[in-house]
Amino acid sequence: MDPLGDSLSKVEILEVMGNDLTVVNAARVSFHKESKEMCEADAKLIRYLAKHKHVTPFFHPQIRLRIKMPIFVAREWYRHQIGFARNEVSRRYVDFEPEVYAPKELRARDPKLKQGSKPESVENNNRLALAMSVSLNSQCLMYNILLNENVAPEVARMVLPQSMYTEFIETGSLAAYARLCQLRLDPTAQKEIQQYAEAVSKLLQDKFPVSWAALMAEPA
Ligand SMILES: Cc1cc2nc3c(=O)[nH]c(=O)nc-3n(C[C@H](O)[C@H](O)[C@H](O)COP(=O)(O)OP(=O)(O)OC[C@H]3O[C@@H](n4cnc5c(N)ncnc54)[C@H](O)[C@@H]3O)c2cc1C
Repeated sequence: MDPLGDSLSKVEILEVMGNDLTVVNAARVSFHKESKEMCEADAKLIRYLAKHKHVTPFFHPQIRLRIKMPIFVAREWYRHQIGFARNEVSRRYVDFEPEVYAPKELRARDPKLKQGSKPESVENNNRLALAMSVSLNSQCLMYNILLNENVAPEVARMVLPQSMYTEFIETGSLAAYARLCQLRLDPTAQKEIQQYAEAVSKLLQDKFPVSWAALMAEPA
């Protein structure tokens, strides 16, 4: 999936451990019982668990994703820590050409909100978007100049912008992803992180239809 729609952003499933039945059987072990195939009683049990915050059965399914997102989004994404493991590309070790997210629509400040933005772009959108893109490219150019002058990658990276893409592998439990998505699908969250949460949500809805619907129906 390409959450930002610029052909560089990415959310991709690498591995999924478990399914809706994993949640059911983690709960049914309390009674030393096991379901072999999902039935309506199992779906009901999942909804009961989600509604009453019996969250541990949702810890068992694990999902591994490869995600490519701008650093300003990753800064927020990484605040969700419990239930996740992450490993990320390091610009101490690599010095390949940086890729940046250059938005085409520059949302205007909303005077009614302390944070966030209006859905509409600023008046001089095209001119400013071009200027922003030029500025981002010039920072990448400076990075290459520093590297060519033998500056170490860990030092040269200091000029790179917050909208530079980073890439990481993330493993999280179904419960952890549900919490992250609920918080970041909220309209008060930054639009770009909402777009990533939307992408993850679609992928997990497909893999865990009953559990995902049940978890997302309850407040975080
Ligand atoms: C719309 C929005 C705006 C935000 N704005 C800001 C901001 O302006 N500044 C800012 O710094 N952050 C901001 N955040 C980040 C926010 O404060 C959280 O860090 C982030 O949402 C992750 O929360 P989490 O509960 O999923 O974290 P996790 O660390 O993944 O924790 C998950 C849960 O584990 C438990 N837990 C974790 N750590 C502890 C602990 N030490 N003690 C007890 N229980 C614990 C809690 O129940 C917690 O909810 C914002 C988040 C959102 C969604």
